[in-house]
Amino acid sequence: MSKKDYSKQDAKHHLHPFSDNAALARDGVRVMVKGKGIYVYDDEGNEIIDGMAGLWCVNIGYGRKELARVAKKQMDELPFYNTFFKTTHPAVVELSAKLSEVAPANFNHVFYTGSGSESVDTMMRMVRHYWASLGKPSKKIIIGRWNGYHGSTIGGASLGGMKGMHAQGDLPIANVVHIEQPWYYGLAKDGESADDFGIRAANWLEEKINEIGADKIAAFVGEPIQGAGGVIIPPKTYWPRIEEICRKHDILLVADEVICGFGRTGHWFGHQAMGFKPDIITTAKGLSSGYLPIGAVLVSDKVTEGLLAGGEFNHGFTYAGHPVAAAVAQKNLEILQDEGIVDRVHDKIGPYMQKRWHETFSKFKYVDDVRCEGLICGFTLVKDKATRELFPDFGTTGLMCRDIFFKHNLIMRACGDHMVAAPPLVITKKEIDTMLAIAAKCMREFEEKMDKQLAK
Ligand code: PMP
Repeated sequence: MSKKDYSKQDAKHHLHPFSDNAALARDGVRVMVKGKGIYVYDDEGNEIIDGMAGLWCVNIGYGRKELARVAKKQMDELPFYNTFFKTTHPAVVELSAKLSEVAPANFNHVFYTGSGSESVDTMMRMVRHYWASLGKPSKKIIIGRWNGYHGSTIGGASLGGMKGMHAQGDLPIANVVHIEQPWYYGLAKDGESADDFGIRAANWLEEKINEIGADKIAAFVGEPIQGAGGVIIPPKTYWPRIEEICRKHDILLVADEVICGFGRTGHWFGHQAMGFKPDIITTAKGLSSGYLPIGAVLVSDKVTEGLLAGGEFNHGFTYAGHPVAAAVAQKNLEILQDEGIVDRVHDKIGPYMQKRWHETFSKFKYVDDVRCEGLICGFTLVKDKATRELFPDFGTTGLMCRDIFFKHNLIMRACGDHMVAAPPLVITKKEIDTMLAIAAKCMREFEEKMDKQLAK
């Protein structure tokens, strides 16, 4: 097949996720053929900066040969085996030990999955099974947040607070409810400090618990920093207060770390950056730096004890603890450790990115709420900074802006009108400078286009 044909053939046979496939077939797609470090390359030879680390997952960057070697070795030795029926294999044993080492001290058990959505669905069944095992089967409601993202399965999409997803396929399912997100910029009252707003937003959880009754609630689930919702970084007071409320009402606290886990925030896990201690941690993505599909639910000693008392947990996926994915994940974690990548995000490259991110974007007139923690960054496109007025039809302006970036070979993402970036954690200072120089050029183009549009 010639280069040009891939785009055409793709339209004939491939339905893309989260896409208007009719529009894609009309407009064509870019064909990515190679990756190295923070760059991906298309079939026309363009070098593209991947400011999103794929889908927030390629933490150690593209093209690490060690991972390919480990995958080949494992494929040659044992390409598949399961751990359902009184069996295990070295790759999964070693990965579990490694995960217990990098996780907080009270996390010593792991349940494997094939993706973030499967981790979330597993967690949803697990928290209910936990309470039933403790003789409290009525505790089954799970509380998520509007504009949270927890995956695309029926469970994950229900728990997430994406109204566009709920609108398709009759969601949410029963016993899943939502509270408002801790979005200071959009939801604070006039003159309210970030700290005060953080407490008020956390108290929405307590209000919901009082409304429903704690005896009916299994868990509260949140991303330490909302990723797909547009990099919403809650005020520092938010999570400690959430934790306090969960403890007071005996409700499990779950951190969905599918994006924040494995170094993104400059800590091994995002809850450490946000200052709280969960009972369960859902992961995927950065666990293997996206090199192979694998997810893991990290289970605290407290929850493990309850589960062990409950007999058989009737749940499991064919690819749970897949040997090749497990071997690759284990090597990926070793690289994160041996190369000090998490500390580097915390001490050096994260602070540099934050400084440069603010310098680059704050000066634009349609940009506000510039924010960055570790290497997860965002800003919001707004019509009027003084009044915090957003553009109409939230999301349209973001897509227009994203397309300008993409045209200039920089991948950033629009989540509504929040523009976000989460580059590979191995990005260098020079690469940050290059990335942000392109971004500034794109923003000038965006502003000119927007000026013209508003003048009409
Ligand atoms: N939870 C969170 C916080 C996520 O960001 C995502 C994916 N972006 C998921 C769950 C779902 O993961 P996956 O796409 O691997 O199913």
